[in-house]
Parts: sequence; C-alpha cells; structure tokens
Amino acid sequence: MIAENGMAQAPMPPLPPPRPDRPAPPEDNREPTSVEEAAKEKDPAAEEAAAACIERLTQLGLRFEKRPPVQDNACKVDNPVSVSALADGIEVSPASLMECSFAEGLARWMKDVVAPRTSEHLQSAPTKLLIGTSYECRDQRSGSKLSEHAFGNGVDVMGFEFDKRAPVGIKFQTEGSPEAAFQSAVQKEACAIFTTVLGPGSDSAHGDHLHLDMRKRKADYRICQ
Ligand SMILES: [Zn+2]
Repeated sequence: MIAENGMAQAPMPPLPPPRPDRPAPPEDNREPTSVEEAAKEKDPAAEEAAAACIERLTQLGLRFEKRPPVQDNACKVDNPVSVSALADGIEVSPASLMECSFAEGLARWMKDVVAPRTSEHLQSAPTKLLIGTSYECRDQRSGSKLSEHAFGNGVDVMGFEFDKRAPVGIKFQTEGSPEAAFQSAVQKEACAIFTTVLGPGSDSAHGDHLHLDMRKRKADYRICQ
C-alpha cells in the first residue's frame, strides 16, 4: 500500500476479537464522561426544565430549599431539593434531599393517594410522612447496580402520622384491619406514579418500609411488589 506522500504504509492490524468474558456495562450504569458533563451544563433546555420543575413544586405548595447539584463519583442529583413539607403542610420527617421531579411525584402520591385513602380507611388526615432514606450514594440491596437512592430518585417511607390518630408504620399489618387496607391501597396505587414500589411481602429487605423510586426502564416497565 502506498500513501499519498509516497511512503509505504503497513496495513492496519486486525482488531482483537471482543472479550466475551467482559460484557459491556449496562447503559444506565456507566459514568458520564467529562464531555457529556460539559454539554449538560450548557444545555439550555435542561436548565429550563429544571427551573420549570422548581416552579411546579412552589405551585403545588411544597416547603423546600433548592440545593446545589450533587456529584459523588457515579452518584449524582442534577436538580436537588431538600423537602420539609408536601402540600397542605404535611411534614416530611426528616427533611429529605431528592431530585425535583421525584419530589413532585411524592407530592402527587400524598395528595391523590395517601390523603384520600387515609380518609377512607382511617377516617383521618395525614400530618407527617416518615422517611428512612432519601439520597444515599450506594448500590442496590441486591446486586451491584447503583440504587436510585444514589440519584435522589427514590425514598424509603417508614410510615405516616395522622390527625388525632395513632401513627401507622409500614409492616406486615394484621389481616382485615383498617391499617392493612390503608397500607395495601397506598402501596398498590403508588405504581401509577412510581416505577418501582417494594414493600413488605416483596422480599426480606423491605419488611419495614416502602421503597419508592422512578427508575427509567425500557417500555415504561414497572416493578410493583
Ligand atoms: Zn430504598
């Protein structure tokens, strides 16, 4: 082979075959490159969407503080807010860090599901949402994939407090009790808003809390157990 400058050029050596023992990492698990980070910072559409989300939280009546973006190795929260209350003054205890869009989902769940089901099954109104874990840079309980907690995109709900009524902690409730009917309804109907809902009965790791997250999966696939 002769190149334009007249010098002989060695043919390209063939590429080594792909290593079958090293599968490509799953798409949503890889770390963003610095090029992607730079592009994101300058993306006006993303900035606009983030501001619009913050505006919606205000409209919905949440009490929250906007926080700077989180980046800790592969863990990150792009548009974080620390939420201390949902609409109607329903406290979030302790105040919890989460992605803005997730906070919006949590507020919808409280308003459209938890409040009406409290009225229906417990003849009361919710006053406090008890949170175990919100943002946390860690892997899933099963497997090595990052948990949605690592993106501020999930919370563990430990229970609820109500007006003039005993609190309800998430657990295996006595069959046929109002608490069982309430918990079952708020868990089942959470699936319309969140893409992962795991509670008592799903596996031993979720016996005392409801894990709710908004993991994005292909074809809007949801896990509700
Ligand atoms: Zn969880």
